[in-house]
Amino acid sequence: MDRIEGVLKEERVFYPSEAFRQKAHIKSEEEYQRLYQESIQDPEGFWGRVASELHWFTPWQKVLEGELPHPKWFVGGKTNLSYNALDRHVETWRRNKAAIVWEGEPGEERVLTYHDLWREVQKFANVLKRLGVKKGDRVTIYLPMIPEAAIAMLACTRIGAVHSVVFGGFSAGALADRIKDAEAKVLITADGGYRRGGIVPLKQNADEALKDTPSVEHVVVVRRTGEEVPMVPGRDHCWHELMEAASDRCEPEPMEAEEPLFILYTSGSTGKPKGVLHTLGGYMTYVYLTTKLVFDLKDEDVYWCTADVGWITGHSYVVYGPLLNGATTVMYEGAPNWPEPDRFWRIVDKYGVTILYTAPTAIRSFMRWGEGWPLKHRLDTLRLLGTVGEPINPEAWLWYYNVIGKGRCPIVDTWWQTETGGIMITTLPGAHAMKPGHAGKPFFGVVPEILDSEHRPVENPDEGGHLCITRPWPSMLRTVWGDPGRFIQQYFSQHPGVYFTGDGARRDKDGYYLIQGRVDDVLNVAGHRLGTMEIESALVSHPAVAEAAVVGRPDPVKGEGIVAFVTLKEGHAPSDALRDELKAHVAKVIGPIARPDEVRFTDALPKTRSGKIMRRLLRQIAAGEKEIKGDTSTLEDQRVVEKLKEEA
Ligand code: ATP
Ligand code: MG
Repeated sequence: MDRIEGVLKEERVFYPSEAFRQKAHIKSEEEYQRLYQESIQDPEGFWGRVASELHWFTPWQKVLEGELPHPKWFVGGKTNLSYNALDRHVETWRRNKAAIVWEGEPGEERVLTYHDLWREVQKFANVLKRLGVKKGDRVTIYLPMIPEAAIAMLACTRIGAVHSVVFGGFSAGALADRIKDAEAKVLITADGGYRRGGIVPLKQNADEALKDTPSVEHVVVVRRTGEEVPMVPGRDHCWHELMEAASDRCEPEPMEAEEPLFILYTSGSTGKPKGVLHTLGGYMTYVYLTTKLVFDLKDEDVYWCTADVGWITGHSYVVYGPLLNGATTVMYEGAPNWPEPDRFWRIVDKYGVTILYTAPTAIRSFMRWGEGWPLKHRLDTLRLLGTVGEPINPEAWLWYYNVIGKGRCPIVDTWWQTETGGIMITTLPGAHAMKPGHAGKPFFGVVPEILDSEHRPVENPDEGGHLCITRPWPSMLRTVWGDPGRFIQQYFSQHPGVYFTGDGARRDKDGYYLIQGRVDDVLNVAGHRLGTMEIESALVSHPAVAEAAVVGRPDPVKGEGIVAFVTLKEGHAPSDALRDELKAHVAKVIGPIARPDEVRFTDALPKTRSGKIMRRLLRQIAAGEKEIKGDTSTLEDQRVVEKLKEEA
C-alpha cells in the first residue's frame, strides 16, 4: 500500500479581503471552477485562447498532439520569446515603463525601461551572432544577479540559442560539469559579484572550469566589480566593448514552438542534478498565464521575486513571466542580511513593492532574526505575498501573513518544480480561501493524482501518497538533456503512463493539496509512514524553534527511529530540558508515534544553494556514517556537514 499518513491538523482558514477579491483577475471559487473544468475538458480550446494573447509569426496547426511522456504543444506554430517579452510592449505605451528595477548589494540602482531592455537585448543578440552563435547552440550564463543576466537570456531566445544558466554561487567544478554536459560554445560571466559584503570571484572560477571544457570558444566578461581579471586573448572579450560595437537592431528568429528554449539543472536536493530541457511555445504560454493569475499581476504593480536567475523560479518568475506580462520586475543582487537583516524590507519600501515572492528558508531566517527588523519599515505597499521552494510550515506561514503582510495580503503557496516549468498547485489569491501549510488547488490544465505504490488512486481525504500528474501540461520538461533514458526512468517509470513528481502529498475534503515532502525522505516508524513536513511543522510550532529537519535512522525495534535536527531562534539556548520539551511537544501536537527519538541542536542545516534542506545528507549523519556519499556539489556551505558530524 505504502500510503503516507496525514498527521498534522490545521484548522485555521484565511480569506482574501472583499476589496482584494473585487479587483482580482479571478474573483471567486466558482469562476476558478468554471475555468478549471474548461481547461481540462477542452485543453486545446483553453490553451489556444491563452496562446493567442501572445504573438505568433506563424499560427499553430494543432494545440496539443500526443500524450505523456511525449506531448507536443502548438505544433507548427512559430514564435519568439524575446519578441513577446519586449517588442510587443515597445509597440505600446509600455515602451517607457520600467521593465527591470535593479539594486546592487553595495546600493547602486539601475532602471531599464522596456525600450532600454529591448535595445540592449538586440545588441547582445548581435554580439552572440558575431561570436558565431547559431540557432540551437548552447550558451552558458554564469553571472551575478545583474540586468546583464536577463539581457543575455533574452538575447539567446532572440536568435534561438539555448541558454543554460548556472547559479553564480557555484564552484568551478559545478560550472565545468554543467558546461560539459550542455557542450556550450560560449560562456558569459563577470569579473565578480557582490555577496554579503565580499566579492565572488566569478572569472577566476570560470578560468578554472574552462581548463576542462573544450566546447567553449568564447568568453564574454561583464565588468561588475572592476577588479583586475586576466583575459585570454582571442578567447575572452569585454561585454562592454562588444556592446559598443554592436547594432541595436536584430530581427527575432521565428522559432518552432517545440524547439529547445533552455536547459536548467535541478537543485540537487535528492541526487545528481538533472539537465531539464524546456521548449518554447508551451513554456512561454504557461508562464505568461500563471504569472498573470497567480500573482494577480496588474500594470501598476511593482513585482519582486527574490529568487536568483540561476533557479527555475528566477527564469519563470523574475525574468520571463513578468516581462511577458509587461510588468515591472525588481532584481536584487545580494544577501537578505546585508548590511543588516532588514535589507529586503528597505527594498520593499524604497521601490514600493506590491507583490513579494520568496522562499520558506528566507522566511524562517527572518523569523529567527526577529520581527524588530521588519517592524522598522512601513511595508504598506505590499498587497500580495508568495512562497516557493519547500513546504512552508504553518507557523512560518502565519508569521509571513501577520508580520510582513499585516493580515492584509493573501499568500500564494506555490508548488512546482524545475521540471514543471511553472506553478502547478496554488491558490488563486482573489478566488480561494487559504489554509496555512496547504499549497492549494491545481492550476488550470493541471490534473494531479495521488497514487499509492501499487498505482491506485488514494481517494480518502488526508491520506497521503505519491503526487503524480496525469495529463500533459504546456510547460512540462521535454527530456533530460543528453539522456532521454533518464527522462523516462526518473519521471515515467515509477507509475506507468503518468508523470511522477518525487513528492508526497495529501488532499483534504475541499480538494486542497498539502505537500508532505519528498517520498525518498518518508519515515517508516513502527509500520507508520510519516512525511517529513508534518513532523517538522510540529517542531517549528514550538516558540524556541526556528527550523527543523527530521530524518529516519535504522532502528532494530521500530524499523526507523526519528532524529530531529533543530536550529533555535535568537534568545534560546540548547539544553536537555528543551530537548525533552520538544519531544513532548511533537507527541502532543501529532501523537506519540511521531515523537523524535533524538533531538540534535545545530547552528545550521545543510541546504542546497536554492535554500532547500538536504535530508539525504542528514540521514547519513544520523546513521553515524563517516563518509558522506552522493552529490554534494550544490551544497550551500560544505562546512555545515563537517560541523554536524563533529556535533554527533
Ligand atoms: P533535485 O530534483 O535535483 O533533487 P530539487 O527537486 O530540489 O532538485 P527544484 O526543481 O528546484 O529541485 O525543486 C522542486 C521541489 O521543491 C519540489 O519537488 C518540492 O519538493 C519542492 N517545492 C517547491 N515548491 C514547494 C511548495 N510550495 N511546497 C512544497 N514543496 C515545494
Ligand atoms: Mg526535484
